[in-house]
Amino acid sequence: MAAHQEKKLAEERKHQNMQNDTKTSQGQWGRAWEVDWFSLASILFLLMFAPLIVYYFIMSCDQYQCSLTDPLLDLLTGKKHLSDIWNRTPMLTYKAAAIYSLWVTFQVFLYLSIPDFCHKFLPGYVGGVQEGAVTPAGVVNKYEINGLQAWIITHVLWFANAYCFHFFSPTIIFDNWIPLLWCANILGYAVSTFAMIKGYFFPTNAKDCKITGNFFYDYMMGIEFNPRIGKWFDFKLFFNGRPGIVAWTLINLSFAAKQQELYGEVTNSMILVNVLQAIYVLDFFWNEAWYLKTIDICHDHFGWYLGWGDCVWLPYLYTLQGLYLVYHPVQLRTDYAMGVLMLGLLGYYIFRMTNHQKDLFRRTNGNCRIWGKKPEYIECSYTSVDGTKYYSKLLTSGFWGWARHFNYTGDLMGSLAYCLACGFEHVLPYFYIIYMTILLTHRCIRDEHRCSSKYGKDWRCYTAVVPYRLLPGVF
Ligand code: NDP
Repeated sequence: MAAHQEKKLAEERKHQNMQNDTKTSQGQWGRAWEVDWFSLASILFLLMFAPLIVYYFIMSCDQYQCSLTDPLLDLLTGKKHLSDIWNRTPMLTYKAAAIYSLWVTFQVFLYLSIPDFCHKFLPGYVGGVQEGAVTPAGVVNKYEINGLQAWIITHVLWFANAYCFHFFSPTIIFDNWIPLLWCANILGYAVSTFAMIKGYFFPTNAKDCKITGNFFYDYMMGIEFNPRIGKWFDFKLFFNGRPGIVAWTLINLSFAAKQQELYGEVTNSMILVNVLQAIYVLDFFWNEAWYLKTIDICHDHFGWYLGWGDCVWLPYLYTLQGLYLVYHPVQLRTDYAMGVLMLGLLGYYIFRMTNHQKDLFRRTNGNCRIWGKKPEYIECSYTSVDGTKYYSKLLTSGFWGWARHFNYTGDLMGSLAYCLACGFEHVLPYFYIIYMTILLTHRCIRDEHRCSSKYGKDWRCYTAVVPYRLLPGVF
């Protein structure tokens, strides 16, 4: 069985590492083979509490006008029992189940059945069949990049049906928000459980599987690297880049429509949140081919972290600002709104340019110009599981000379702008920046650990040249 072979392979690798832990480890980058107690404790915490956190946030908006403290106070003072809160929570409905099934089926259809046509008429857009990065087992997967067209078709149909044919109300998402949460959870758990079973019994590529033997760790972090059904249905690309992210902008539009319905106007804060987040989403689709080279696709295995996270965490918690503004329609002073807009655009610019510099540098193998000059870099090498040696380069020019993850810094500035657009009355909209700071700092450390095992001494040379991670002179 693939699972037993992998376990045996893991033990052999562990042995090899112990024999020679000073060398760059062979094909060892990526998710861990062994679980330390801290990782296990974090995973158990997340498995238990992440679904509750999502429920708590959404419920506090629904029942407590987005106050995060009032539900706790009610419970602690005995004014309310858990059952009172639960009894007021909308349950799963046939309508929500039908909307959600239709939604996911439609996204699967767009993903699998319509080859990309956008790259044929949009100059500069990279779509159609593209290759991913080399996996630790030395495999290069092919992907059909058609996310931009899926986003465009979905949004055109949304506007046509909501505003021209009046087939449904544009507030449909807000009106079914909690029943849809149950549907998203069902899909999130189903897909993560399926991925685990598939990883054990019929993996797409057994050499790229990792099994630690710890059920919770394997469930959370995934066994298979690139699970697929058939040649083209790639779990990571679909769940990371379709149902949740395509929905993100529609969810915000639905919140804006609800504001209009309730108060007769859409506030400038709601417009800001819609515009800044739409730029981020569109950027994702415009650069979907680049996305194949990011950590999510290149290094993470597919488990609950990605499966449930993409189905539930992303669409429900990344859209909290818009939801908050339905309950608290904040009208910002023009100068303040302009300041938030500038911060958001500057953050986006840094995020995009930093990512672009690395992409350009890697695509051209260093034969490009960064800020008008030939780029400086550090030569590095690594070895895949089958012993093949590969060569690569680490850029030290442009934003990559300022800090090792300046793209995260730009992302954090943009994230802060979404939150600031909601004013200062409540903490709830600020959850996003707190979460992103934890996520990206942890990601930074995780990535550096991986790069250090992948590149060994070459990575140490790089960190000596670029000593800071996120903020030059600070961290
Ligand atoms: P990066 O795009 O920074 O990719 C990190 C990888 O790039 C490393 O593993 C290494 O891979 C390579 N690399 C590192 N340093 C250099 C260098 N100096 N020169 C060349 N290559 C280098 O990270 P992510 O994939 O995490 O993030 C991509 C973007 O997505 C970021 O802008 C981030 O902010 C955003 N993001 C957003 C999230 C959200 O939820 N909104 C979540 C996560 C990310 P290799 O093995 O190829 O050398």
